[in-house]
Amino acid sequence: MANEAYDYDVLVIGAGPGGYVAAIRAAQLGLKTACAEGRETLGGTCLNVGCIPSKAMLHASEYYEAAAGGAMEKMGIKVKPQLDLDTMHGQRKDAVKGLTGGIEFLFKKNKIDWLKGYAQFTSNDTVDVAGKAVRAKNIIIATGSSVTPLPGVEVDNAKGIIVDSTGALELAKVPAHMVVIGGGVIGLELGSVWRRLGAKVTCVEFLDQILPGMDGDVRKEANKIFKKQGIEFKLKTKVTSAEVKGKKAVLTLEPAAGGDAETLEADVVLVSIGRRPNTDGLALDKAGLELNKRGQIETDHDFRTAVDGIWAIGDVVPGPMLAHKAEDEGIACAENIAGQTGIVNHDVIPSVVYTWPEIAGVGLTEEAAKEKGEVKVGKFPMLANSRAKTNHEPDGFVKVIADAKTDRVLGVWCIASVAGTMIAQAAQAMEFGATSEDIAYTCHAHPTHSEAIKEAAMAVTGKPIHI
Ligand code: FAD
Ligand code: NAD
Repeated sequence: MANEAYDYDVLVIGAGPGGYVAAIRAAQLGLKTACAEGRETLGGTCLNVGCIPSKAMLHASEYYEAAAGGAMEKMGIKVKPQLDLDTMHGQRKDAVKGLTGGIEFLFKKNKIDWLKGYAQFTSNDTVDVAGKAVRAKNIIIATGSSVTPLPGVEVDNAKGIIVDSTGALELAKVPAHMVVIGGGVIGLELGSVWRRLGAKVTCVEFLDQILPGMDGDVRKEANKIFKKQGIEFKLKTKVTSAEVKGKKAVLTLEPAAGGDAETLEADVVLVSIGRRPNTDGLALDKAGLELNKRGQIETDHDFRTAVDGIWAIGDVVPGPMLAHKAEDEGIACAENIAGQTGIVNHDVIPSVVYTWPEIAGVGLTEEAAKEKGEVKVGKFPMLANSRAKTNHEPDGFVKVIADAKTDRVLGVWCIASVAGTMIAQAAQAMEFGATSEDIAYTCHAHPTHSEAIKEAAMAVTGKPIHI
């Protein structure tokens, strides 16, 4: 029950996967809860313009490419696909509508008040939402993130020539040439969508390799696979400007280390160089809160900020900007507010790139593990996995990294058609402190892609069966 001086026990600001999950858990724990959301629908970036719509387009374009690219014909299915982009967009919108509506239903079910509007602090326990003061004993900031702008490259999603991820989900026609700035997750996922549908895609990446933060072997192999699929990469290159000329954009590119500039013409430019925390407009100074150098809100292990009664979770706090990380933090934060012990193990957060094949990892990269001590590594190619081979999915591998002395698994990395599904067992094993031997001696169903994880674990001691 809310203390009479307060309108709510818990007020969550932002209804993304961090915020809406925190609100539901708080309500489940008997706390009087409200959630302020400025967007017209619940679900945040993830459900509205992120994870869900991008996966809707990835899934549909995967089918299209399987039909158009000859993969179906190889299996005896002759089809001549015709692209109906409006219908493809329609099923994306349906997925978003269904899922955001589902959160609205869950709010009603759990008696969570949805306060419509952007919240702004007026003191350390009160916010203004659409002109109304709301006082809460606990306030969780879950305002998420938005696209990092690139100076000299102005995004205009309405025009559809220089776009961010939101604009790239909605293109009305397949561009002849798409230039993706940034070889990270968004660039590769959305670049893959439009390449599959017929665009020539060029990816300009500042660093010497794509997918920063991932295991070195995985980055190299992924680069090879995407090149084979037809994406052209310009590594160690920066975009210094992009100018719209008629229906095209002209980009100026320079070597990252300096040197002669070149120009590149594109029908669509996707700016995907990262995301930054949403804190503008919150008036954090009124609450007495400060940001760190990266513009994030710092918290302790319990998700408490420096101000008593104010908590923060998700993309607005340090750590990987991932929906499942935000969700887990939301649950733990609400449990801590209710006096329970909510914990998130930040060492075991899986990450997945939903390309074809998928790329997934959890725990340390081989490079990071070696910095901490001696390691043993087991690798198994998907080409030697019976199911992947039968399904004509030869690309990729699984890699298990274990502590040389204790055999405890420190990291698992996979490139495989269903790597995103496979990585869950690795995360669970690591959460239970598994050794590579534990995984190697766990019975895996046959024939499954997951057997490659077992074999890679067996390879840690040099004894895989199928290579
Ligand atoms: P958000 O989802 O950003 O939600 C924050 C909400 O707060 C927003 O709705 C915003 O309107 C609201 N808000 C902001 N300020 C205020 C205010 N002052 N008052 C009221 N409301 C406010 N992650 C994955 O794990 N898997 C994926 O496949 C994946 N795909 C992605 C694809 C794309 C194209 C993008 C852009 C992101 C993707 N992500 C993915 C990242 C994922 O969307 C984020 O990590 C996740 O949404 C973060 O959740 P959050 O709750 O912290 O914030
Ligand atoms: P990212 O950090 O994944 O990649 C950005 C890339 O841009 C990096 O490789 C970086 O080196 C490069 N870069 C930066 N400045 C550049 C410049 N001036 N010129 C050329 N390259 C430049 O960022 P993103 O792809 O925009 O994604 C943002 C966030 O959204 C990520 O943190 C990710 O976690 C999240 N996301 C996750 C998923 C998923 O889980 N499948 C999908 C999409 C987005």
